Amino acid sequence: MSYFENFINANAAYVDLHGTAHLPIKPKTRVAIVTCMDSRLHVAPALGLALGDAHILRNAGGRVTDDVIRSLVISQQQLGTREIVVLHHTDCGAQSFTNEDFAAQLQQDLGVDVEGQDFLPFTDVEASVREDVDILRQSPLIPNDVTISGAVYDVDTGRITVVE
Ligand SMILES: [Zn+2]
Repeated sequence: MSYFENFINANAAYVDLHGTAHLPIKPKTRVAIVTCMDSRLHVAPALGLALGDAHILRNAGGRVTDDVIRSLVISQQQLGTREIVVLHHTDCGAQSFTNEDFAAQLQQDLGVDVEGQDFLPFTDVEASVREDVDILRQSPLIPNDVTISGAVYDVDTGRITVVE
């Protein structure tokens, strides 16, 4: 049995809580959040978000990749968002390896050569936030009047600290 069956069972209860309500497709707060896939970060309750409030884009590290920019352009130009928050966190899995070591591991475990590929690891979490905010500020696909903020979430306390 896979864990998926648990999800189907849990969803039956969720449907009762959810009821039927059609929210607008455009996020109410007009904010898109770029953050990590980490299981200890529940973005909606941590930021006081309800259904329909914001776009949440997640990947390993919450890094600004070409595909994150693709999603942000759709978020902004099709679905009306005008603000971006880059939210990284303490104790991130992207801080636990280097590209070189990871490439060696994948070569050994999977027999795949990924040498030269950047998996976007980082050491300093505030520096990674600033780096990703800068990528967004410099992207011609993100208009200059879009508000961009950066922050770090502490997985031990739930507290978010602004990165200036
Ligand atoms: Zn992470």
